[in-house]
Amino acid sequence: MTTEDTRTYDVVVIGAGPVGENVADRTTAAGLSTVIVESELVGGECSYWACEPSKALLRPALLRADAGRVPGLAPAAAGPLDTAAVLAHRDRMAAHWNDDGQVEWLKTAGIDLQRGHGRLDGPRRVAVTTPDGGTVHLRARHAVAVCTGSGAALPDDLPGLAALRPWTSREATSARRPAGRLVIVGAGVVATEMATAWQALGTEVTLLARGSRLLPQLEPFAGELVADRLREAGVDLRFGVTVATAARTDGEVRVTLTASGDGRITASDGGRIVADEILFATGRAPRTGDIGLETVGLTPGDWLATDDSLTVTAVPGDWLYAVGDVNRRALLTHQGKYQARITGAVIAARACGIPLDTGRWSPHAGTADTAAVPQVVFTDPEIASVGLTTAEARRTGRRVHVVDYDLGHVAGALQHDPAYRGRARALIDPDRRTVVGVTFAGPGVAELLHSATVAITGEIPVERLWHAVPPFPTISEVWLRLLETYRDQTR
Ligand SMILES: Cc1cc2nc3c(=O)[nH]c(=O)nc-3n(C[C@H](O)[C@H](O)[C@H](O)COP(=O)(O)OP(=O)(O)OC[C@H]3O[C@@H](n4cnc5c(N)ncnc54)[C@H](O)[C@@H]3O)c2cc1C
Repeated sequence: MTTEDTRTYDVVVIGAGPVGENVADRTTAAGLSTVIVESELVGGECSYWACEPSKALLRPALLRADAGRVPGLAPAAAGPLDTAAVLAHRDRMAAHWNDDGQVEWLKTAGIDLQRGHGRLDGPRRVAVTTPDGGTVHLRARHAVAVCTGSGAALPDDLPGLAALRPWTSREATSARRPAGRLVIVGAGVVATEMATAWQALGTEVTLLARGSRLLPQLEPFAGELVADRLREAGVDLRFGVTVATAARTDGEVRVTLTASGDGRITASDGGRIVADEILFATGRAPRTGDIGLETVGLTPGDWLATDDSLTVTAVPGDWLYAVGDVNRRALLTHQGKYQARITGAVIAARACGIPLDTGRWSPHAGTADTAAVPQVVFTDPEIASVGLTTAEARRTGRRVHVVDYDLGHVAGALQHDPAYRGRARALIDPDRRTVVGVTFAGPGVAELLHSATVAITGEIPVERLWHAVPPFPTISEVWLRLLETYRDQTR
């Protein structure tokens, strides 16, 4: 027997990933009754199949690589990783794929949880199919926030994909044991991070990139440094290739390659690879295929475009919001949570009839989504970037002064590794003399990134940055070197 139930809240949030949780937290804190709908685990992709488990796998790999370059430590760091201990750490960081802790947090925050699959059902209405097959009808007095995230996008032109049983980011982050041989298709963040982690855990990794470089969204030197280190670690990197066929026979994956673009198949195996698993790290797709978008005049399967207040403007009435991965503004947990804080403030303001303040850097505008999205790629070496890259500046016609510095000349970096390899690039707006983009590539640069984010969002003039004195001998002294280089180039 199935049940039907109707409940009314101020706010209904669909999806209890990091972003949905934060929207609900902010609206509840503003005194608005809020229910959150979740079809899998409270905590979303980030907690169980993305950020947390991937970084748990990478931390020992990166630390061992760093330690191996420190005089006196190298012999101690030379041995293999303790795979069982690394995987146990990963399991703990993924909370053993159990969401009790996060459900408890929802309770303490005063947020109601409705388990099941949520679908929009016309304006301000959500119908939830519950795990027992019942239906709960939720009505929202003020707002519905769609926070359903994204899933792995698999190639749609490769025959026999289901029988191939490929890995996606989910299997790559939750595998019970290392595969003997792993083919990774892709050149972006997931591909390079998973190649780093699994190669360090003893897997023979082959990485297939369609283009001519890794991390193509970032400054070219970032991908070049990562490619060098991956090769040194033993990863077989192949550029300018695409998968022509892939099939699983007798438990093995057999892949044939064709050249893409200007690429050529030069490998001695003639572009035929045999592996135990194949991972497609070929992008993300919005989870909007079955969330009732058609009931509000939108197209199922599309990304949900919003304005800077995270409102879906294609739907009249200012009641529908799309927050986090699903709006494609910046597919990162911290950026989705930033959007969630803004959405909470927007919903609360509208509920109280307070006019929105949507000017640049105002409480109701996600300005950082377009001006300062920080991202760290946890490869060896780490890549940390925020704001514009040179290619983006060129594409958008933005005039910038490019300042480069070799991190291998910074005293703090040499303390880290006497043969430190890395590079920093700052993009400076020549008219306003403020920093608009920074990329650091090198071991240990991840924690440096927030300084760049503050410089960009604060629009701090270069003249004032001279007074922000980096301590000696830290890698952050690169700021001083970038300022000196800029001064010398512009005098
Ligand atoms: C391998 C990997 C590593 C990553 N590492 C990092 C990192 O280090 N740092 C970082 O910032 N970002 C990282 N990301 C990106 C990060 O995981 C996402 O940006 C983040 O999870 C987005 O959060 P979200 O809440 O928008 O979506 P999700 O985390 O995808 O959560 C969406 C939730 O909605 C639920 N849901 C979906 N549809 C429905 C429905 N119809 N009804 C009810 N519930 C529904 C889902 O079950 C899920 O729980 C990584 C991504 C991958 C793939």
